Amino acid sequence: MLLGMTSEPEQQDGVGEPDGFQRLWTPHRMAYIQGENKPTGPGAGDGCPFCAIPAKSDEDGLVIHRGEHVYAVLNLYPYNSGHLMVVPYRHVADYTDLDAAETLELAELTKHAMTALRAASGAQGFNIGLNQGSVAGAGIAAHLHQHVVPRWGGDMNFMPVVGHTKVLPQLLADTRKILADAWPR
Ligand SMILES: [Zn+2]
Repeated sequence: MLLGMTSEPEQQDGVGEPDGFQRLWTPHRMAYIQGENKPTGPGAGDGCPFCAIPAKSDEDGLVIHRGEHVYAVLNLYPYNSGHLMVVPYRHVADYTDLDAAETLELAELTKHAMTALRAASGAQGFNIGLNQGSVAGAGIAAHLHQHVVPRWGGDMNFMPVVGHTKVLPQLLADTRKILADAWPR
């Protein structure tokens, strides 16, 4: 199913702050990743959410796609509707820490994410990138994650249509399913 688009910008109840800043590239807002449950230490077993997500079901973890080395997951606190992240399973902080296979699959899944978002929501543009280090706005700096944020002109987007009638967890569950179905095979 195609996600409906509104004809004018609307408030995103519970999804984001519907102000003028939403039209700007504000990477600091991307710090809010998968809850405020930040890791308690540097290791993979220290409460890192990106290490914990793959052990959950797709539905509970909001996992959209599981690759061999890398997975795609919906952001629990999206900058924009459909905001997802492409994440290596391995707990590494820096892009230069990725091995060749991880680097390749991170790039491939980023492409697939764009394809899925275009198919599902008619995304007109994207902001894609890595916040490397806390000083650069990374919320979970210890485990790198590539943001893929769909953009629309004026950022009218697809969630407000149902956003007025559903609570956020249901919105995210619906978005996850739609993107998983639209993911290239
Ligand atoms: Zn981790």
